Amino acid sequence: MTAKILDGNALAQKLRADFKTRAEALAAQGERPGLAVILVGEDAASQVYVRNKVKACEAAGFHSENIIFPADVAPQAVLDKIALLNADPKIHGILVQLPLPRNFDSDAVLEAISPAKDVDGFHVENVGALMQGQPRFIPCTPYGVMKFFEEAGIDLKGKEAVVIGRSNIVGKPMAMLLLHAGATVTVCHSQTKDLLFHTRRADVLVAAIGRPRFVTADMVKPGAVVIDVGINRLPDGKLCGDVDFEQVKEVASAITPVPGGVGPMTITMLLGNTIEAAERALNR
Ligand code: NDP
Repeated sequence: MTAKILDGNALAQKLRADFKTRAEALAAQGERPGLAVILVGEDAASQVYVRNKVKACEAAGFHSENIIFPADVAPQAVLDKIALLNADPKIHGILVQLPLPRNFDSDAVLEAISPAKDVDGFHVENVGALMQGQPRFIPCTPYGVMKFFEEAGIDLKGKEAVVIGRSNIVGKPMAMLLLHAGATVTVCHSQTKDLLFHTRRADVLVAAIGRPRFVTADMVKPGAVVIDVGINRLPDGKLCGDVDFEQVKEVASAITPVPGGVGPMTITMLLGNTIEAAERALNR
């Protein structure tokens, strides 16, 4: 079997066209969606992510602000800026690019963002709402993954879903979304005793590990849907996922590639969350 390739670029393009239309409608009513992205320090990968986010906002007709602080900025200065953005009616979404420098209390920074503008969905209030099945902002990466299932018409009810990874930004919210969609969910991590036992019975397997080509064909049930969240840079500079794509595509029924799979969907759902925030602001 050769798997159907779930094309993240095509899906992202389709969703972004819809977001652009909605952004124009909001702008016409005086509520142009606005996103502020805060970057602290000069981490090269973070700079690329932030640039891409700002570019995507501009292409979708959003107002965007890119706020860059030097690595040695006092944490209070960042908190003060967040307070200003919380009160700024032009801004509907605030995102702080992680990781922050070591002297920062990242949790305190994320909690300082108004829950109504927390488009990353990392504020405890939004995490709690998601847990209760009443999400307000769904973290962008797992949100993007759910869009693949929707687009491909994959019904998750009753499916065995296995998530490898339990981070707050991917693994845990992913598991929660799959659970709410009716799947029976297992979350695996570095202390899982028999990973193979779990992955081999997964109808839906999500890999969010951060280890290049970790998931091999023998770990995958024939016909499974495999979602590769991983982004790893190889010594030759090329990107690869957590799944051995070439092998696994011969076993799975559907698979996301890296690059061109989950990656483009993450920024897309950031735009989606910002639109939702602006629509809520208009309705208030
Ligand atoms: P984290 O490092 O926070 O989490 C990795 C998880 O993998 C942990 O829960 C860890 O377990 C688990 N793990 C590590 N080794 C093993 C192992 N041998 N067996 C089983 N589980 C293991 O990473 P993130 O969740 O932030 O990111 C995961 C990957 O996704 C990375 O490659 C990252 O770059 C990528 N990513 C991609 C995005 C996108 O837009 N496509 C967005 C965000 C992330 P434990 O908890 O026990 O340590």
